[in-house]
Amino acid sequence: NRAIKDDLSNVVEVLSIGHDISGKKNAEKELNLAASVFENIVEGVMITGPDGKILRTNRAFTLITGFGEQQAFGKTLEAFFDSTHHGPGFYRKIWKTLSAKGLWRGEVWNKRSSDESYPQQLSISAIQDIEGNNSHYVGVFTDITEQKRNQEQIYRLAHFDSLTGLPNRILFQDRLSHGLAKANRNEDCLPLLFLDLDRFKSVKDSLGHGVGDMLLQQVSTRLAECVRASDTLARMGGDEFTVILGPSPSIQEVIVSVTRVSNNILTALSKPFELEGNRVVISTSIGVAVYPQDGDSVSDLLRNADMAMYHAKQESLGFSFYQPEMNLANMERLNIERDLFEALEKEQFEIYYQPCMRLSDGSVEALEALIRWHHPARGLIDPDQFIGVAEEIGLVSQLGEWVLSTAVNQAVNWRSQGLPSVRIAVNVSPYQFRDKLLVAMVRSTLDESGFPPDQLILEVTENLFLDPLSDEAAATIKELSALGVCFSIDDFGVGYSSLARLKLLPIDILKVDRSFIAGLFENENDASITRSVIQMAHSLKLNVVAEGVETQQQFDYLKQQGCDAVQGYFVARPAPARDTEKILDISSDHIRFISE
Ligand code: C2E
Ligand code: CA
Ligand code: CA
Repeated sequence: NRAIKDDLSNVVEVLSIGHDISGKKNAEKELNLAASVFENIVEGVMITGPDGKILRTNRAFTLITGFGEQQAFGKTLEAFFDSTHHGPGFYRKIWKTLSAKGLWRGEVWNKRSSDESYPQQLSISAIQDIEGNNSHYVGVFTDITEQKRNQEQIYRLAHFDSLTGLPNRILFQDRLSHGLAKANRNEDCLPLLFLDLDRFKSVKDSLGHGVGDMLLQQVSTRLAECVRASDTLARMGGDEFTVILGPSPSIQEVIVSVTRVSNNILTALSKPFELEGNRVVISTSIGVAVYPQDGDSVSDLLRNADMAMYHAKQESLGFSFYQPEMNLANMERLNIERDLFEALEKEQFEIYYQPCMRLSDGSVEALEALIRWHHPARGLIDPDQFIGVAEEIGLVSQLGEWVLSTAVNQAVNWRSQGLPSVRIAVNVSPYQFRDKLLVAMVRSTLDESGFPPDQLILEVTENLFLDPLSDEAAATIKELSALGVCFSIDDFGVGYSSLARLKLLPIDILKVDRSFIAGLFENENDASITRSVIQMAHSLKLNVVAEGVETQQQFDYLKQQGCDAVQGYFVARPAPARDTEKILDISSDHIRFISE
């Protein structure tokens, strides 16, 4: 203990224990305290002389390193370093810092007496004597094996997907941005593959999450066999994977390597999967974007590879290289597709009403319901931009039901407020006719609202009758007509349906497509088609409505030709329900004046 005290008397100041030592007795007490701290502290401590050779070590030193004080005596720090981690330069650096700053702190790998390598957090301070020379050095260290293990665990959790063990989106982005920087320096091309499984959702829905997870694990195993260890294969989430292939000096070589890898992947994933006794077959679509031609940032490459993947899926191509013209239209579509589901749930839609004006007395013949989408980010979206998408992704029936129910309930509501009753026209997509429940839906919607069926007009387009389903569609129209519902043929004249054939169906109204009205005074053909449609329709006892009437001249001409009703900006623009109320409220032959 005496010896320790001797060494410590120099150290005390640095440990800032001895500041207010007033007398020798106090000093003695403080030294005793310091000696006991030294022995009992959990950190390993070693004290060296000015030459860096160990003079003293504490109990924790022995516990951590496995070396007793005698074994450590006279050795330098370096003697404990694990040489596979640190070269001699490392030791020199420590001493350089120590002599310059009096303090060094860092992580070192040491070897225990058992030869096991372990990491420690070490700090070394220089102790100066009264003349200001470094007389001792005190090294304090902790074993950070556990801490390191936790860090690694945390790193793993943050950078790897727990289901498949593959790098996740974060690590992928990190690797890609490093890859891009390197490709930039070396003037290389770097290909990125974006993969999406084609029938994953239906597998998950029909066989359950557990089987879905199993499928993803097997997919990632097969994928890993198709790429090299130096490539990065990552799972982006869901059933989306990416592969960063190694760089190539030319685009020709990229094409060769991408084609080879893609074909390998497509073949590997086309073989059936055995999942708990289920044989599951899926297919895959791959999109490829190449640095620098298709983008020079992580986000651009990812977006374009995604776009190319979407293209591959649409065209059943297996894989597809990105092409700039895929860009905008598809992007729009993708976004709309994604947002439509939510729009339906959150009822982001509104109906605008556009009156159709009877020419004989200027009254409101009907109000056409035209859907609008209040997109939370993009504002008001017109139906031409999303009806087609809703049709393709199978949402148009739900959408149509919402429109019908909202519109007829609105009309019932107006009526209960004492406003005049009005006919409602609703557009019905040909896709809705594929829905076996269409008739039941219309019937129950009318029943529930109390709206009279003969006040409802369903607008269908001619192409409904060109469809292979036309016989079924015709039967559906007859069933609906038996409920009392009326039909009009929308956009008439652009399709090729014969009036004689339409005559066989319970149709009441023809709406002449607005392209003919727009051409009335520019194109003699348009004028003669309009005139003959009016005549033929009348001979078949159908009402004729002209759409898209924008000018006084068109309005007057149509009236003179005996057209029954007109619709268009000249009369009134489509407007929200609260604005439409005003039209219903006043004497109806003023429609077109208040709408302006
Ligand atoms: P549509 O049935 O031919 O509806 C007429 C379209 O012409 C409406 O466009 C209307 O705003 C526009 N329009 C009206 N007057 C004029 C005019 O004077 N000049 C011009 N240039 N245009 C005029 P909107 O509302 O954008 O609807 C477009 C199409 O979307 C509709 O064409 C219809 O086919 C479809 N659509 C609208 N709502 C629904 C719906 O609820 N269900 C279904 N399935 N389709 C709908
Ligand atoms: Ca229409
Ligand atoms: Ca139309």
